[in-house]
Amino acid sequence: MREMRRNLQTGREQKNASMRETAQREELPKAYEPGQVEERIYRFWLEKGYFTPRIDHNKKPFVIIMPPPNVTGELHLGHALTATLEDIMTRWHRMKGEPALWLPGTDHAGIATQVVVERQLAAEGLTRHGVGREKFEQRAWQWANKCRKTIIEQHKRMGASCDWTRDTFTLDEKPSRAVATTFVRLYEKGLIYRGERIINWCPRCQTALSDLEVEHKEVTGHFYYIKYPMVDGAGHVTVATTRPETMFGDTAVAVHPEDKRYTSLIGKRVAIPVINRPIPIIADSAVDPTSGTGALKITPCHDPVDFEVSQRHHLPLVNIFNSDASLNKEAGPYEGFDRFECRKALLPQLEREGLLLKTEPHSHAVGHCARCGTMVEPWASKQWFVNTKPLAEPAIKAIKDGRIVIIPEQFTKVYLHWMENIRDWCISRQLWWGHRIPVWHCQECGQPTVTVDQPQGCAHCGSPRIYQESDVLDTWFSSALWPHSTLGWPDDTEDLRFFYPTTVMETGYDILFFWVARMIMMGIENTGDIPFRWVYLHGLIRDEKREKMSKIKGNVINPVAAIDEYGADALRFAVTAGTSPGNDIPLAATKLEAGRNFANKLWNAARFVIRNLPPSLEDVALPGELPVEDRWVLSRLDQVIDRTNQLLEDFQFGQAEGEIYDFLWGEFCDWYVELAKIRLNKQISPSPIPVLVQTMETSLRLLHPFMPFITEEIWQKLVSHLPADKARPDSLMIAAYPAATKLRDAQAEEEMSLVIDIVRSIRNARAQSKIDPSRRIEARIHASNKSAIESHRQAIETLARVQPLAILDAGQEKGDEGAVVLLVKDVRVVLPMTADLDAERQRLENDKQAVEARIVGLKARLSDDAFLSKAPAPVVEKERGKLLDSQATLEKIEQRLAELGYSQVTEQGLGKP
Ligand SMILES: [Zn+2]
Ligand SMILES: [Zn+2]
Repeated sequence: MREMRRNLQTGREQKNASMRETAQREELPKAYEPGQVEERIYRFWLEKGYFTPRIDHNKKPFVIIMPPPNVTGELHLGHALTATLEDIMTRWHRMKGEPALWLPGTDHAGIATQVVVERQLAAEGLTRHGVGREKFEQRAWQWANKCRKTIIEQHKRMGASCDWTRDTFTLDEKPSRAVATTFVRLYEKGLIYRGERIINWCPRCQTALSDLEVEHKEVTGHFYYIKYPMVDGAGHVTVATTRPETMFGDTAVAVHPEDKRYTSLIGKRVAIPVINRPIPIIADSAVDPTSGTGALKITPCHDPVDFEVSQRHHLPLVNIFNSDASLNKEAGPYEGFDRFECRKALLPQLEREGLLLKTEPHSHAVGHCARCGTMVEPWASKQWFVNTKPLAEPAIKAIKDGRIVIIPEQFTKVYLHWMENIRDWCISRQLWWGHRIPVWHCQECGQPTVTVDQPQGCAHCGSPRIYQESDVLDTWFSSALWPHSTLGWPDDTEDLRFFYPTTVMETGYDILFFWVARMIMMGIENTGDIPFRWVYLHGLIRDEKREKMSKIKGNVINPVAAIDEYGADALRFAVTAGTSPGNDIPLAATKLEAGRNFANKLWNAARFVIRNLPPSLEDVALPGELPVEDRWVLSRLDQVIDRTNQLLEDFQFGQAEGEIYDFLWGEFCDWYVELAKIRLNKQISPSPIPVLVQTMETSLRLLHPFMPFITEEIWQKLVSHLPADKARPDSLMIAAYPAATKLRDAQAEEEMSLVIDIVRSIRNARAQSKIDPSRRIEARIHASNKSAIESHRQAIETLARVQPLAILDAGQEKGDEGAVVLLVKDVRVVLPMTADLDAERQRLENDKQAVEARIVGLKARLSDDAFLSKAPAPVVEKERGKLLDSQATLEKIEQRLAELGYSQVTEQGLGKP
């Protein structure tokens, strides 16, 4: 405490001195208040135009196209994660001198936005059909514009350094033209067709859904065993079904061709109960004879598997549902019934007629609309499709030959499996919000005219009586073009030539198929080149119990509220700390607090450095001869720079951040700054100022991509005190990212790590013996290299609060009876305070157990053939070294325990009052 007070006083004196001399120089306020800093700094960056890259054909650009957030509301933590990771990459590359483009945008999000607007209308007692298409679109535009504004503002608050001059909305004129152009070209190549297929129909949203827009939920239902009487009167065939009401749409009963039970029945006919429509019994090897009764009812219009069976056997299609999922005239007496009511009424009838053999409980997965939760109805209907197989082939190749790399690697297999089994993509949606399909139907000749621009008349017969297709395209159709449509395609623009292919596509693993796969297909199809080099898939943010965040559970953290409370840098820290590719991220308020604490720690260290700068600082060059702690901190910093660059290169953002955090907090702030205080107080030469300044300035550049606001704020204040330098940029965000020199000082690192360990062990011993922190205690240190320890006398005395301190040769130990003895590597520290021997024995016992456990682990590792054959030689060597060190430590502990007398430990410990 006394030390600290003295420091504060020194600081205050210097502050007064500096204010007298130069009024211009800026002090740091006592506490870091992000709310007063962030907006000002963001405006400064924006006004300077730093976010817009300069096209320079001598350089290779770094490009990220932002996954456009949906205009369905505000940003959530997932967006905050995306924005932070992309900003880290962009800022890092920008600081490395590359033209860095991070292109922002927003997505009209077809069905999702339409559902939101429909809900708003419902709240006013209105419906979409009631207000009409034009009015509805106006409402949707109003809502979308409002959301876009919010989304842009929220990104700004996160510190996102994206190029707002290139901000794009999927419904803007240019991307819309790209959409129409793609449609027309694919249509002309025969890769877009209109056809009857089974699609997922949402009876509430009244639209088709892609497979990916359907969520499968486990539902407890039943297996109903229903007898279908033979038409010839000779008995019946029993089928098992979970949906008896679909029997009205049956067009066959299928059995396995080799199923002996049914061989004689193949080709005969059964009658559908209730309506008595006859249907054939067919043989198809797709039928699993072990499932149910081995006889399968075939309902082609309402089951995708049955649809395929029906295509193979040329069966008719019988659709039994209206678009709201009520039954149509095919259901005979049940026409007009809702699908669920129909089942309720049908089962008793079957039972009465003796056709319901039995009912078994059965749970199975049922598709639900991902937007509104309504049970989806598989439905055969006329839709527009993309024939994806020819598009998937080059997209598979691009991954297989390594032109595109997916991180983490395990998703490559998932991607390939999906692409190799890809099904045609239903792209038409019966919605009003989106890109209207560029097809005009002719009322005269019935032929479609497919063009980018509105045609004057039918391309086939010239008739002006044409009307545009009312459906819009799946929202992912425009998303699939995003990396090239945002850069100007189909025009040959400078942006497209310079920035395409882009560098990284960073997104959540949950939209690998929805989006990433389709961008690869469409990118290659439209431009002939891959859309991006790397796919980085981040995990999903969950709460601290690893549960999904949801409004219903009430565990949602709102990013803007988090910024208000903790600051943007703290939020960025919280979402990325510990993150690794593809792994979900648990997030709790404690992580936000940790981020804020880190910001405060850095702020305080910076304040200390700035306050101690001499009033007329002329030179911050390092002197030729540096004390060991200076060489240590510079060597460690260089190592951290090296590691950080390597980790960023490997997309290990969480680890890179951890590396900087550990250095700044655990080495620079906790040790180097404390050591520097001693030198400043006692005016020991050389001054630590040049090293403090250099380490601080370099660390700010290193940390900037992760925590841009606080680093810029401190950096601006710091450099205002430094001698003018023409080469210094106006902003930290365009300063050079640190590069490692790889000049290390192993001797300084080893020596300082010993000093730190000595201080730490004395502090621990003091804490365990509950010694008043302000009290100085006597200490003796026995070391084989006495002079090395001697040079750190001041540091050990001050930081461990020991006095008097005797530094003696090893082997001179005497009079240790009753003293606390600490063993630090080959150094013996004796604290002759009235030792609590029991406490020491206990501590040694604990240490012994820990070391023994470590030895067991290391031995197991070093005898594991898999480890020995796979690990690089330096890693194995390092493990061997650890084992030798641990064995030496164990020997020392045992020696000391022998001095103390093992046997008494427990008894004495228990016997104490
Ligand atoms: Zn729906
Ligand atoms: Zn025509």
